[in-house]
Amino acid sequence: MSMEKLFAEANRFIPGGVDSPVRAFGGVGGTPVFMERGSGARVYDTDGKEYIDYLGSWGPLIVGHAHPRVVAAIRDQAGKGTSFGAPSELETDLARRVCGLVPACEKVRFVSSGTEATMSAIRLARGVTGRQGVVKVAGCYHGHVDSLLVSAGSGVLTLSLPGSPGVPDALAALTHVIPYNDPAALERLLVEKGSEIACIILEPVAGNMGVIPPAAKYLKKVRELTREHGVLMILDEVMTGFRVHAGGAQTLFGIKPDLSCFGKVIGGGLPVGAFGGRADLMDQLAPVGPVYQAGTLSGNPLAMRAGIETLDILAEDGTYRRMEEVSGALQAGLTQAATAAGLTVTANRVGSMMTMFFTAGPVTDFDSATQSDTGLYAKYFHGMLKRGVYVAPSQFEAAFVSSLHGDAELEATLKAARETFGEMT
Ligand SMILES: *Cc1c(COP(=O)(O)O)cnc(C)c1O
Repeated sequence: MSMEKLFAEANRFIPGGVDSPVRAFGGVGGTPVFMERGSGARVYDTDGKEYIDYLGSWGPLIVGHAHPRVVAAIRDQAGKGTSFGAPSELETDLARRVCGLVPACEKVRFVSSGTEATMSAIRLARGVTGRQGVVKVAGCYHGHVDSLLVSAGSGVLTLSLPGSPGVPDALAALTHVIPYNDPAALERLLVEKGSEIACIILEPVAGNMGVIPPAAKYLKKVRELTREHGVLMILDEVMTGFRVHAGGAQTLFGIKPDLSCFGKVIGGGLPVGAFGGRADLMDQLAPVGPVYQAGTLSGNPLAMRAGIETLDILAEDGTYRRMEEVSGALQAGLTQAATAAGLTVTANRVGSMMTMFFTAGPVTDFDSATQSDTGLYAKYFHGMLKRGVYVAPSQFEAAFVSSLHGDAELEATLKAARETFGEMT
């Protein structure tokens, strides 16, 4: 069946034919490609066409598709049972690793998605502080939590939605939005309203308005200001956790938030989220404390096994160094190819996450990100897709390099990019 037919059929039964909006190619036009299988750094569509994959399922697949060790762990666990609804040692095992890798996490609780992690973390922050206000940063995305769908990045930004109907005004009114990389704006807000604000939540490296690194001292300043005003600092590391550094962006930049959210990598491609932080805060959760949070499939054994195996592979010598090398070469090569073709680009990168913006830059926040020429991005996307390279179908997302992207993938990608850029000018 052609992609058009597959998509038309999907549209009969699934709104927009997809289970998550950005998959529908709304940001770049055209018909989504239906995938059948993946192996290492590559994915294969239902026609058998091969692509070098920089989507990595939007971040989780840091050790590539169907890694033999991850597959073996999932298979083994499936034979033993997929869910018990009772504690298993696997949860303690993964929690111990997370707390070992991320110094600010003394305790952690597993959930089933990044959305659930951020939703639960802000409930906990509101519960322990007795305050209702939440600060979020324009262009950061924290899943589709009601309180956090205000000025959100990712699909909301790709599809130019103003926010979302269905989010009560009363909740949106409790969310204060400030620009990224602007500590002065946070300071003004906290001086005025600090006593009403439970927490600030932000991505330490923004990834959902395209990749934007934190300016020097930005995160440190946020830490100082929040401490001063008794506001909890929540770092949403659902994308950056275990990716930009074994201990997440907070370890890379030397910041100790009060709470952290994880997802994506930590589930090794299965549905997982987690939130963790200071023990005194985490112990306010039921059953120890009064803040309620629960989940039938939380800490799911299959997901724990996939997560544990993924972290074990990542812990092997040189894994992060290799990803850094390949990502650095990709950033340099793409920039060079675009410039040679007469295009003006800004390639932002932190570790193995990167975005090509079609603007002179610098891209430092939501406003500068939206200066990028999304029409050019769409041409770039389709040019690469045609040549067997799959990047995110939206300007406002990251390209992810996995531990299995190597020289062969790099060379083929840069060849496709030279041809694509040549065609665009
Ligand atoms: C992907 C993402 C989320 C949402 O996670 P889901 O598993 O899609 O619910 C939250 N925060 C950030 C930073 C993300 O990148």
